[in-house]
Order: sequence, then C-alpha cells, then structure tokens
Amino acid sequence: MDSDTLETFQQELTCSICMNCFLDPVTIDCGHSFCRPCLSLCWEEYQTPRSCPECRGISERPDLKTNIALKRLTFLARQARADHDHRSEEQICETHQEARGLFCEADQTLLCGPCSERPEHAAHSHSPIHRAAEESREKFLKRMGSLWKKREEMQLILNQEAKKTWSFKKYVVLRKLMIKFEYQRRHPLLQEEEKLHLEALKKEAKEICLQLKENVFRMTQQRESLKEMYRKLTEMCHKPDTELLQAMGNVLEMTNLAHMQKPQPVNPELTCWPVTGIQDMLNNFRVDNVLTQTTIHHVSLDDASVMSGDDPHGLSRQVDGGESFVAWGAQAFTSGRHYWELDVTPFSNWILGVTKDILTSDTIIHINYEEAFLLFSEKVNDQYSLFTNSPPLVQFVKRPLGRIGVFLDYDNGAVSFYDVSRGSLICSFLPSSFSYPLKPFLCLRSPLII
Ligand SMILES: [Zn+2]
Ligand SMILES: [Zn+2]
Ligand SMILES: [Zn+2]
Ligand SMILES: [Zn+2]
Repeated sequence: MDSDTLETFQQELTCSICMNCFLDPVTIDCGHSFCRPCLSLCWEEYQTPRSCPECRGISERPDLKTNIALKRLTFLARQARADHDHRSEEQICETHQEARGLFCEADQTLLCGPCSERPEHAAHSHSPIHRAAEESREKFLKRMGSLWKKREEMQLILNQEAKKTWSFKKYVVLRKLMIKFEYQRRHPLLQEEEKLHLEALKKEAKEICLQLKENVFRMTQQRESLKEMYRKLTEMCHKPDTELLQAMGNVLEMTNLAHMQKPQPVNPELTCWPVTGIQDMLNNFRVDNVLTQTTIHHVSLDDASVMSGDDPHGLSRQVDGGESFVAWGAQAFTSGRHYWELDVTPFSNWILGVTKDILTSDTIIHINYEEAFLLFSEKVNDQYSLFTNSPPLVQFVKRPLGRIGVFLDYDNGAVSFYDVSRGSLICSFLPSSFSYPLKPFLCLRSPLII
C-alpha cells in the first residue's frame, strides 16, 4: 500500500473523539462509529439523553456491540502503520546488530532473533511486536470492560447510599414522633427519661449521618479513580506498539489493585432504648392465643403493593414463594386495646402485625397491604432489614431477637411493636383512625420452618 492510500485508509478509520485509529469500534443508531472507551467516557460525562458526538442524533440502544468488520480493518490499518513505523524507529540489538522485532512476555523486553534463542529464553514464548501489542490491547480492553462495570456497580451503590442518607434523615424525624407518642400515651411521669431518650437518638443519628457522608465521599473518590484508570488505559491502547508493550506490566498491576477496592455500604441501625415499666403497662391488655388459624404449605404471599410502592432502601422485596408458616386470628378486633407476643427467634424472614382481611386459596394468601399494619424482617445479602408497609418504610433500628410484642390500640388508631427482651419500642404506626376490623397476623418464612 503506498503512503497516500495508507493515509486515506487510516483517515476513514479515525475516531472523531480521540483522533486515533478506532479502538474496539462501536456503531451507534445514526451510523457513526467511535471507540467504545471514548464513547463510554463521553456519555458518562453528559449523561442522558445519549446523543452522537458528531451529528447529535439520539442513540437509544444501551448495550453496544463491537463492529467486527471495522475492528478487523483497524487491525490492518494499525499493522500497516506499524510496519511503516517500526522500520523507521526500529531498535537495533547492539550485540547482534539486528532489529529487535520480537517481544518476550515473560521478561517484558524486546529481542532480536539471535537473542531470543539464548538458553535463558528457551522456555518463553516470543511473538512479533505488532502481534504482541494487539494481544495486549485486547487484554487491556478486557480489563477496561471490567473496570467500567465495576465503576457502574459503584455508581449504583453510591446512588443507594445517597438515597439511604435521605431516608435515614427522614426516619429520624419520624422516630422522634414515635418516642414522644410512646411516652405521652402511657408514661406521663417519665419526662426525664423521654428527654434522655431523645438526646441519645439525636447523638446516635448524628454519628450515623456522618458515617454515611464519609462513605459517600469515599465511594465517590473510588468511582473517580476507576474512571481515571479507564482513561489512562484508553490512552495506553492508543500508544505505539513498543511503548505499549513496555508499560504493560505496571498497568496490569495498577488495575489489579483497583479491583480489590470493595464498596462497603453503611447499615444504619439506631438503638432501641428500654422504656421503664413498659412491660407492666402492656400486660394490662394481654390476650393469649390470638392466632388460631394456621397453615403450612408453599404459599406465595401477594406482595404486589409492597413491591410496587416507593422503595426507599433500594432493596428487592421479592418473595421467593418458599415454604412458609402462616397464622392469623379467627376473630377480628373492632375496639379496645390488645397486646400479644410472638416468638420469631429462629427466623430471619417474617411478617407480623394486624390486617383487615385474609383471603386464602390453595397456594396464595392474599393480604391487601393498604389495609394492614405490618412489620417485616428480611435478610438480604447477609444483612437484615426491618420495614413497615403503607407506604413501605425502612425502620433503621436494631433487629429484635426473640419475642416481639404487638400492641393494637384500636381506639387511638395506633399499632406498635416491642422488643420484649430489651423492653423497648421497635416502631409504631402513629395514630390514625381504623374503620374496619383488624385480625392478628403472622408469617414465618423459609428456610427455617418448624
Ligand atoms: Zn476514540
Ligand atoms: Zn452521528
Ligand atoms: Zn541480539
Ligand atoms: Zn524470553
């Protein structure tokens, strides 16, 4: 190929973002092509909508496939360029006065033919510079793909952490109201304890907010350093063959380090402080054996309303449809105050509280979560979370161990949950007005079934 043809050929294979020969070329909806890394970085910077950097045409497809034909052509173009360049920049072996045209991967060095036959290289594999460089580019691209994926995962966790901070702050305000309600309703003489309790909450919440803030900051830095590394690798891939080969070892080591960074989400948990005399008070309203109707089989709870609601924690609420033990009261309460306790000790996943109606068929127990006051415990990725329904709300408090007390204050339109062993309030549905009968409800989910 003469040099004019080569130049025209190469111009056609130039990415308009980096002005280099295409690297892992992708073609977008408008027909224009770019290096995948250039486009990823460009789109990341300007977010949605994704438009073509050349013609501004909107691109809808989120996952871009490599344009294989173009990739083969760029390989040829780089080879032609390399043949041209190597001749002019060839490194000559001083011992043998021959061109160093081979790359030794084990030693990361360039060798001439006779050097490559020395005994110390006997067990190595040596390949022509251009082929070795193209193989390294492929290796880099693979690394870059996983770096980018990691960066995206980091972004996802970062968004969740930011959302969590927001919901946690909102929750603290609500928790204050729960505590005030608890003391005001039954312990008017415990003003001092209430005050201490609120102060402790304020202090603990402040510490957790700080942790969340620091974590968001740390993750933002990690995300940025991953992006920076991606950018460096992109630049590296565009370097001439010999330069690329000699820098390879360091770069791969650097990306290995980046892969070891693991984002650690904060799990905010407020302490539930004991309330003096709470148990005696609750015992005045004690009812035994409230759960009279039971069933054990493969049930799938109709979680539709919980799942479709705004999920402040970003956690999946998918019910696995495994074996569950479900129990509820035959009788419904329509007035008064009632307290009962339930033991959930061996279980990670459970639901308990009160609900209006329970409709059962062979395999489905349907609960309308709009007319239910329930506390859920769920284990996701080794982390427990507690939440209530209508609207779905994460309760950022320590998980109760053992017995849980349920207090239905029908007349005041309130439902509260207590950690019996700690003598503390887990959470409350604050006063509203009930206009329908409410039945006690319990569901213990697999894997631990009695
Ligand atoms: Zn480019
Ligand atoms: Zn375009
Ligand atoms: Zn030599
Ligand atoms: Zn060697």
